[in-house]
Amino acid sequence: TNQKGGVGKTTTAVNLSFYLAKAGQRVLLVDFDPQGNASSGLGVEKHELKNTMTEVMTGEAKLGDAIIKTKFKNLSLAPAIPELANAEVEMAKMNKKFVQLKMAIKSVEQDFDYVIIDSPPSLSLLTVNGMIAADYLLLPVQTEFYALEGVAQLLESMKLVKKAMNPELKLLGVLATMYDKRTALSAQVLLEIKKYFKEKVFETVIPRNVRLAEAPSHGVPIGIYDKFSKGAKAYKNLSKEIMERVK
Ligand code: ATP
Ligand code: MG
Repeated sequence: TNQKGGVGKTTTAVNLSFYLAKAGQRVLLVDFDPQGNASSGLGVEKHELKNTMTEVMTGEAKLGDAIIKTKFKNLSLAPAIPELANAEVEMAKMNKKFVQLKMAIKSVEQDFDYVIIDSPPSLSLLTVNGMIAADYLLLPVQTEFYALEGVAQLLESMKLVKKAMNPELKLLGVLATMYDKRTALSAQVLLEIKKYFKEKVFETVIPRNVRLAEAPSHGVPIGIYDKFSKGAKAYKNLSKEIMERVK
């Protein structure tokens, strides 16, 4: 999660899911953004879908009936389409509006080792549902100017969720993304991120790498599109670091 747009949430969700699955973990990627970028990034044809996160969130379908197997071993997806934004409006009227996702995931959790939720760029009801359903929050931060803008607000939301609904929620780590080693700015911002979050910052830093930006247009994760790229290596490392951290 990060309510700031375009910081690498979806790129991280897709590629982390892929590498966890490749390591033999049973992974469910929940596309929880009406933009549906995680779904298209895995090459899913949205018009062929019967159920999506829209129906799951309005209570018209079970999560188990929305999950599809992807082309990639051990990796399942709960897809999203733009109508998820309407579902969010519907949900606002429901009694259990905050725990819809949590209950949905409970019903399938025995089938998976990891459930990765790709949040939308807002501190909306969907994002809050994600925080309530999750054990851990992963915060991607772009190594650009204004990187930490909004982060205080996000941490405040996390604190509120922790207090009221999900005492188990922990910050898994902060991921520096789109790092450009040629610029002094990237280095400077990374230092700032480390000063703020200390040991919470993942050792793995995701470089700015055009192959990462190209892969989604082919509907595949970086590990399939160009497994020798810098971006691929970084996300593979991140998956290892995360398997260590959640032990
Ligand atoms: P949104 O807030 O809209 O959901 P997001 O936080 O999910 O965005 P992404 O969609 O992952 O961010 O990334 C934004 C754009 O930057 C995309 O076009 C993506 O392909 C590209 N991108 C992400 N990470 C990298 C990277 N490390 N190097 C180069 N391009 C990247
Ligand atoms: Mg996204």
